[in-house]
Amino acid sequence: MLAWYLNQISDHGITSATVLLARVVWRRAFVVLSNSVLPAKRTCPCCGWQGRRFFDYIEMGYAGPNAACPRCDSHSRHRALFVWLRDQYLINEKRGTALVFAPEKALAHLWRTAPSLRVYRVDLEPARGVDVLADLMRLPFPSGIASLVWCHHVLDQVEDARVALDELGRILRSGTGELIVSVASGTQEETVEFGFCDKSLSGRRRVFGSDFADRLAEAGFKVSPLNPDLTEDQCRKYGIRAEPFFLCTKN
Ligand SMILES: [Zn+2]
Repeated sequence: MLAWYLNQISDHGITSATVLLARVVWRRAFVVLSNSVLPAKRTCPCCGWQGRRFFDYIEMGYAGPNAACPRCDSHSRHRALFVWLRDQYLINEKRGTALVFAPEKALAHLWRTAPSLRVYRVDLEPARGVDVLADLMRLPFPSGIASLVWCHHVLDQVEDARVALDELGRILRSGTGELIVSVASGTQEETVEFGFCDKSLSGRRRVFGSDFADRLAEAGFKVSPLNPDLTEDQCRKYGIRAEPFFLCTKN
């Protein structure tokens, strides 16, 4: 939490950062108390944690209640993707080479359940568990190497999303390779480009609109929308809100 606090000071100044820290600590204390005295209603499929409620997700200018697993920090999106990868995509049966961009901590052990899949975790920043440091716009991989490319909430932050999509298409194996991708989309139709890195929006350079699927198609992909296909009970228990993602192939 110290690193998070120092980042907030750097981005927003010490007064705003300290007010935010106090709010986070108070809400976390409330959730810890709730989880210690009230019966469990939530389960995290990623790590097995059970409790009354998840931690709230609080950033400057934004708060999402009941969002983050206290044990593995998974959010709704991670939990939905985890269940889909495990139960519907059957990741443990996959073979070949997978390139996982900005690897999510909550999914880390799931990749290890696929003994025939060579998984390379790729990120721009050095972090625990990253195998290759690389920029999505200039990837150090040969063309057609990947049977699976995993890329979630990354294209929002790269300098040029079209160049990055071209690179993803280049490294994806023709015919059988699958790109599984999502972005933090807004409610508007057209993508809004900021032209700069907005630190108040987690470093995003754009907010994709409902035209994201069109952008994938323009980059040469055949695009299929995906849905984790969970019951209402599963969504409630796992704390999942439906969020679109896509499976893309190329000829
Ligand atoms: Zn968890």
